[in-house]
Amino acid sequence: MEVFEQLESGVRVYSRAFPAVFTTASGHHLTDEQGKRYIDFLSGAGALNYGHNNPYLKDRLLAYIAADGVIHSLDMATSAKREFLERFQKVILAPRGLDYRVQFVGPTGTNAVEAALKLARKVTGRQTVAFFTQAYHGVTLGSLAVTGNAAKRRGAGVPLLYSVAVPFDGYLGPDADTLPLLERLLEDDHSGLGLPAAVILETIQAEGGVNVASWDWLRRLERIVRRYEIPLIVDEVQVGCGRTGPFFSFEPAGIRPDLICLSKSISGFGLPMAIVLIRPDLDIWEPGEHNGTFRGLNLSFVTGAAALCYWEDDTLQRETERKGKLVADRLGTLAARHLPAGQVVRGRGLIQGLALAPKRLAKRVAQLAFERGLIIETVGPRDSVLKVLPPLTIDDEGLAAGLGILEDSLQEALSETPDAELSLLAS
Ligand code: PMP
Repeated sequence: MEVFEQLESGVRVYSRAFPAVFTTASGHHLTDEQGKRYIDFLSGAGALNYGHNNPYLKDRLLAYIAADGVIHSLDMATSAKREFLERFQKVILAPRGLDYRVQFVGPTGTNAVEAALKLARKVTGRQTVAFFTQAYHGVTLGSLAVTGNAAKRRGAGVPLLYSVAVPFDGYLGPDADTLPLLERLLEDDHSGLGLPAAVILETIQAEGGVNVASWDWLRRLERIVRRYEIPLIVDEVQVGCGRTGPFFSFEPAGIRPDLICLSKSISGFGLPMAIVLIRPDLDIWEPGEHNGTFRGLNLSFVTGAAALCYWEDDTLQRETERKGKLVADRLGTLAARHLPAGQVVRGRGLIQGLALAPKRLAKRVAQLAFERGLIIETVGPRDSVLKVLPPLTIDDEGLAAGLGILEDSLQEALSETPDAELSLLAS
């Protein structure tokens, strides 16, 4: 690890949390230089929904490279891009009755968010974007302005402007409805909010602590933004592409976002790719008004198109929902066995969180889990939530093994925790 400490920037984060040098990966496993195998409950923060080196996707990729397929093409038309567009239309949009134009943006999630924010501002001629407490949308200045995390915001070095935070579902406790406040701010021309250019949200705030918006809250939010003609941007970067079960996490709510940001698992193979889905009448971009050199990695189109085979029937969705329930049940049992009542297990499908109150307990559990061969990260305020995010393709044995390690690690971490801090668990 010394090479990384000496030569790589201090900004690195995952190599600190998971101090091993990884060499190979397959399915839900990563292997380090010493040959130690780890179960992956991190999945590239959602970029590896179909597992590491998914054999079907890898074959398609290798065949494309072997045939000298175009790799880089700016936003020129290529057969790989056409295949992706046609398959996305046929497999994802058409069966759901959805009508969107696809904008290819720079390679990563924040590029999709930046493009969506710019377009919403252009469409409405307004400037301020409303976002939700504990949201995470990326670290470039536009996305950072709609991200809650104070440490990340400090990194901006300039004021983050044209954004305002409003409370997410559950922010004021399980019994407080947060939408009347938004409604009141919007209807009152003396509230100081003014009409926003957009409302941006995650249906489950993944980095913010696995905070789940209820279907009812999402539906009522949609009605409010419609009434005021505010474009609704749903950031599906982490919880889209089947993470919660359905391809789009918002599907069960029946809402229709105006703009949808997708990245991470849209390429299927962990290759960089990001897109914005745009309601057709909002697609008022002038040619080249938003661009970027890497808006079209054809390798990502090849694997992205191939990965859509998982969506030709509902097997993956059903399996994700089944496994999600398995994880939630197991976390619930584990909490009941080792923790005082009231500990929170929350999530949908294969994003599940276990919130642990005392300072650093969740971090310590993740550290002990890593020593035992499980990669799992902590998220949320004070890193207090363990986020279970395995590849959707993980089998039941892999899940059980990972959750077993998590339970052992929790037990050990609790045995080290001073009584005074443990009492916090009961509060
Ligand atoms: N939006 C959400 C919901 C995310 O989870 C992330 C990344 N964790 C981003 C945007 C930013 O994506 P990227 O890190 O690829 O820029």
